Amino acid sequence: MVNFLPFHVPELGEEEITAVVEVIQSGWLTTGAKVKQFENEFAAMVGARHAVAVNSCTAALHLALEASGVREGDEVIVPTMTFAATAEVVTYLKAKPVLVDCTRDTLNIAPDRIEEAITLRTKAIVPVHFAGHPCEMDQIKDLARTHHLRVIEDAAHALPARYRGKMIGSLSDITCFSFYATKNITTGEGGMVTTDNPDVAARIRTMSLHGLSRDAWNRYTAQGSWYYEILYPGFKYNLTDIAAALGLAQLQKCERFWKARDRLAGLYDEGLRDLPEIIRPHIDAHVQHAWHLYVIQLDLDRLRIGRNEFIERLQHAQVGCSVHFIPLHLHPYYRDTGGYRPTDFPTAHDAYQRIVSLPLYPRMSDHDIERVISVVRDIVQGSRR
Ligand SMILES: *Cc1c(COP(=O)(O)O)cnc(C)c1O
Repeated sequence: MVNFLPFHVPELGEEEITAVVEVIQSGWLTTGAKVKQFENEFAAMVGARHAVAVNSCTAALHLALEASGVREGDEVIVPTMTFAATAEVVTYLKAKPVLVDCTRDTLNIAPDRIEEAITLRTKAIVPVHFAGHPCEMDQIKDLARTHHLRVIEDAAHALPARYRGKMIGSLSDITCFSFYATKNITTGEGGMVTTDNPDVAARIRTMSLHGLSRDAWNRYTAQGSWYYEILYPGFKYNLTDIAAALGLAQLQKCERFWKARDRLAGLYDEGLRDLPEIIRPHIDAHVQHAWHLYVIQLDLDRLRIGRNEFIERLQHAQVGCSVHFIPLHLHPYYRDTGGYRPTDFPTAHDAYQRIVSLPLYPRMSDHDIERVISVVRDIVQGSRR
């Protein structure tokens, strides 16, 4: 009996345990000095002027849209090939998510499909760096400039990633990161907004904590005071110092984690290269891929089985895997409210039948990768046309 190889295992060590224990012993659990330090170190790492920590990437995206003035009746452009969070935040503001197809190779939002989705009501574009491969940001930023739109990057997969040498987080108006348990660095739950715009940063900071005139950190330090004013009806999206302590320890390891992911992805590439039935992830020459996910696409013309059967066989061989993503337009809510048919986004619809995410995380050994490769090879060999 072989052990089950999980799809994901978080990478936490003694450093994280010590850091959390220190916060607990300090007696200050919620937003305070650790959050401030995490924001400062994060901003420095991605090369942004401002960083505001929040309790999820979903919260970050919501606040980014709110700070961009998105309101009832507005439209926001979102890829169909993404997670629920990217589009649902648009509906929080009673605005309408307008879905756009992806490209065949990276599965990122297709820049040449964005323009036809823009109307007089469009306020923002939310590109998602799928699997950690940066989107075509030059083209997206050009479109945004021409049509006076905000660019809000969903960078939940893209730490650390680069586009033409620049870190994701330093490129556009606002960038949102996730520290969910499965992401490249984790605080259990958590998120970060980066921006160079001081007004946007201030608005997001205020709205992340009840719309108060000053945050709890200012209020409860020696130089602070008991006085505060409610400026707007805000939200409760602040990050705790417990989570920030985890984040600081993880940030120290971010580069090492990335190197491990990059190397393991290279091993997958080598081991699957000669199989025409398996289309490996595409990487543009001008990007650094964050390797949050390793997503293969099956060439179904060459196989007698479909994706679902392929996944069943992986699971039968004790290899965990997943599908990223079921395109939004196929889900009942977006199908019914947007009036979308499956083939309205032919590339995403086609890719959806063929994608499989293989396990990829720093803790995996070369042997683990070889085991996945050999299981994939066996499945392919047993089901060639
Ligand atoms: C995980 C994820 C999110 C949401 O992140 P949370 O921190 O869990 O809110 C948003 N977008 C994408 C593409 C994701 O994968």
